[in-house]
Order: sequence, then C-alpha cells, then structure tokens
Amino acid sequence: MTTTAQGHPSPNSRPILIVGSIALDDVKTPVTERKNLLGGSASYAALGASLFSPVNLVGIVGLDFPSEHIELFQQRHIDLSGLQRVEGETFRWSGEYMENMNERETLSIALNVFEDFRPDLPPVYETTPFVLLGNIAPSLQSLVLDQVKDPILTIADTMDLWIQTTREDLDRLVARVDVLILNDSEADLLTGHRNPIKAAETILARGPKYVCVKKGEHGAILVGKNEGEFFSTSAYPIQDVLDPTGAGDTFAGGFAGYLASSEQQTPSFADMRQAVVYGTALASYNVESFSAEKIRTLQRPDVEKRVTELRAITQF
Ligand code: AMP
Repeated sequence: MTTTAQGHPSPNSRPILIVGSIALDDVKTPVTERKNLLGGSASYAALGASLFSPVNLVGIVGLDFPSEHIELFQQRHIDLSGLQRVEGETFRWSGEYMENMNERETLSIALNVFEDFRPDLPPVYETTPFVLLGNIAPSLQSLVLDQVKDPILTIADTMDLWIQTTREDLDRLVARVDVLILNDSEADLLTGHRNPIKAAETILARGPKYVCVKKGEHGAILVGKNEGEFFSTSAYPIQDVLDPTGAGDTFAGGFAGYLASSEQQTPSFADMRQAVVYGTALASYNVESFSAEKIRTLQRPDVEKRVTELRAITQF
C-alpha cells in the first residue's frame, strides 16, 4: 500500500472503473431537510475510492447537473471521459429517515436521463483492472461487465429494489462477479436466511468468491469460498449520525479502492479483511454530514486515523 503525503493515489495504485447512479437528492431526517444534494451510488463510491486509486467514472447526468459537482470529481482526479452529459434532467431521489436513522422510506424517484442510459465504455476504460458495479439496475451492471477485458477483480453492490423487481437479471450478475456487497436485510431477501453467515454461504454457492454483508451500525462480515475465510468487524462508533445516505456506496468505494491499491496482483483474503475495515472507516465519515460534505474534503491520513482506532477498539 503506497500513497503520497497528500493522500492521493500513488502511481502504483491501479485504476478502478466505477459505474452507478449520479443523482440530485432531497433528504429528510427527523431533525432537518436538505434539497438538491449531490447523491447517487457512483458519486459516493467514486469519491471514496479516489482516496486510494485512480477512478474511471461511468454514468449519466442531465444539463442541470451543477458544474461544482463536476469540479469536485475533477479535484479528486476522477476521470470523467465515461460520464455522459445529455439533454434532460439528472436522476433524482428523495428519502426520509425514521427516528432511529436506520430505516428510511423512498419518497420519490425520477429516473429522468437514467431512463435511456446505456453505459458505453470509452475504449481506454475496457482494460481497467478493477471494476466496482455500484448500485444500479443489474442489467446495466451486466452491460458494463460485458465490455471489460480480463479484470483482476469485479465487485457488485445491489439493493432491495432489484431483488424484488429484476431478480433474474440480478441472479445472472451475481453468478459473474467475484465479490457481492449487500446489507443484512438484502441478504435475507435474496436467500431467505436471516442469519448473515448462512445467507453469505448461500450466495457463495451461486458464484462469487467473497460476500460482504453489512450490518449498518453493527459492522460487517466477510465470508470467502475457501475453508476458514471469515472476517467480522464492528462499525466505527459514531454518536451523532446526521445523514446515512450513501454510507453503503462509500463503504463499497473504500473497499474497492483499497483493493486496487493493494501491492499484490490479485488481492488475498488478508487484503479483503483490510478492505472491509477501510470501507468501514470511510462510511463512518460519510454519516457525519449530509451528502458528500465530509468525504469531499477527506484525506488519507483521516482514514488511517479511524482504521487505527478501529484496530484498537476491536483488539483483545
Ligand atoms: P445508500 O444510502 O448507500 O443506499 O445510497 C443512497 C444513494 O443511492 C442516494 O444518493 C440515491 O441517489 C441513490 N439511489 C437511490 N435509489 C436508487 C436506485 N434505484 N438506483 C440507483 N441509485 C439509487
């Protein structure tokens, strides 16, 4: 693992392709309400991963997408040649959190330019060695996978919506990826097992080499196909959660970005364990502010600090 003093990826880090939604979000919590925030699975994942590795972003926005967000991606050295800017409005999502800040209700979704989105990779992206398929329709995730050549590692994130509405597409995708990341309620929905270990084992039998089940404020587990490949960590303890939107996407970005910066050609299970902890540390920053307000200014030393603290907390 090598980074420069400023925390930007070193030349040894390998690029990671990230596809997903790029959105403008309205978020309501029991305390306050904020509108027109930068959101979307790819936005969070790309900002998170960019602390570790060069990112090739694939997505779509409308002409209404504020230039300040484009500038933020550029400041983070995120390559935007795979970002389509087309006539029309950007994807919009609005959600409301319940009192416990864990449960949320989607109030509205407007697909807008996403409706006709077809991810077409610029030729230079086709050989990107690491691929993170952020949360979007599994048919679109598969289209991206069809276009990449011999990736070292492919990682997919998903959500309950796709398990409920496009199950066959999702099953086809799950059979093709190396790592599946999902949360405990989604793992239950996908397998019928409430127990996250049983659920992970069931998913492993369907194709992936590793399954990471996130348990929100209770941490995450990682299960691999080989005998003894099991890891569990708590979450980084946060007392004041302001907005959990994008925590899962930021986790995925940190997880994937860390692996792309790993010194080994193909990440080992030890790397995977570390990646879970880096994802956890990044997600903890994300929930402390609305949208990407905290992670947009984050530097590598900030992440290292929480990784060290997590190690101290969980050691016995
Ligand atoms: P998370 O809190 O990690 O589940 O991520 C929330 C983000 O995902 C928000 O910024 C939304 O813009 C985005 N999002 C919500 N629903 C969808 C969807 N159906 N497809 C793609 N992105 C979505």
